[in-house]
Amino acid sequence: MAGRILSGNQIRDQILEDVGAGVAHAAEKGWTPGLTVVLIGDDPGSHIYVRNKIMACEKVGIRSTMLTPPATTTTEELVEIVRGLNNDDDVDGILVQLPLPDQIDSSKILIEIAPEKDVDGFHPSNMGALATGQPRLVPCTPAGLIEILKRSEIPIEGKRAVVMGRSNIVGKPAALLLTMENATVTVCHSRTKDLPAIAREAEILVAAMGRPAMVTREYLSEGVVVLDVGTNRLTDPAAAEEILSYKPSRLERFKERGSALVGDVHPGHVAEVASAYTPVPGGVGPLTIAMLMSNTLKAAKLRRA
Ligand code: NDP
Repeated sequence: MAGRILSGNQIRDQILEDVGAGVAHAAEKGWTPGLTVVLIGDDPGSHIYVRNKIMACEKVGIRSTMLTPPATTTTEELVEIVRGLNNDDDVDGILVQLPLPDQIDSSKILIEIAPEKDVDGFHPSNMGALATGQPRLVPCTPAGLIEILKRSEIPIEGKRAVVMGRSNIVGKPAALLLTMENATVTVCHSRTKDLPAIAREAEILVAAMGRPAMVTREYLSEGVVVLDVGTNRLTDPAAAEEILSYKPSRLERFKERGSALVGDVHPGHVAEVASAYTPVPGGVGPLTIAMLMSNTLKAAKLRRA
């Protein structure tokens, strides 16, 4: 069976269009949502992510501001910055880009962000709201998974879902959201015994472990829907040979560049066994920023409700 590819880029564009319409509607009423991103340090990945977030804001008409305090900023100083943003009426959404430099205690920062401006959805109050079935601002990547399923008209209710990974930013909220959609959910992690057997029970399989191409054929039952959250940079030529040989053009590009982006799911195996699956790149990744835009508009509306 040649599985259907669930293109995150297309779904991202649909969501951005919806958000853009919502922003235009707000502008008619005289207000524009505003997002402030705080970026500290010189992590190259973070700089790219933040640039993409600012570009997405421009695309949908959200006001964006970027703050770049020095790399030596302390926890106390960053707490003060966040408190200032909490009290700034022009700011609807606050995003502190992770990872933060080592001297800063991230947990002390994330808890300071006013829950109603927490567009990443990581504040314990927002996580608690999700866990009790009253979601407000939901973490972006898991929210994106549900959007992919719904907008691809893949039923969730009554399905057997397996989530591999239990992090606070992906695995746990993904499991909660799937439960809210009436899936029957199993959450797996590094201590799970016989993971392939549990994974094979899934009708919807979410891979969020950060382990390149770990999910091979033995994890996949015929016709499964696979959502691959993993984002791993592959640099080992032998591994690349094995993982990318299903598509000679990708292997060629690896040889030219010396690296390739792969998910947690083996791209060759999933294409043969799944009924539908998200590719890496171009699957789940694009949704994260789209859902950030959606959350910023939602936060702005909730503050004005
Ligand atoms: P974490 O490292 O925080 O969590 C990984 C989870 O996977 C943990 O629960 C861990 O178990 C589990 N795990 C690790 N190895 C195994 C294994 N061999 N078998 C079973 N479970 C395992 O990662 P994140 O949740 O932050 O991210 C997961 C992946 O998703 C990464 O590749 C990351 O880059 C990507 N990501 C992509 C995003 C996107 O926009 N596309 C956004 C966010 C993340 P335990 O708890 O026992 O340690």
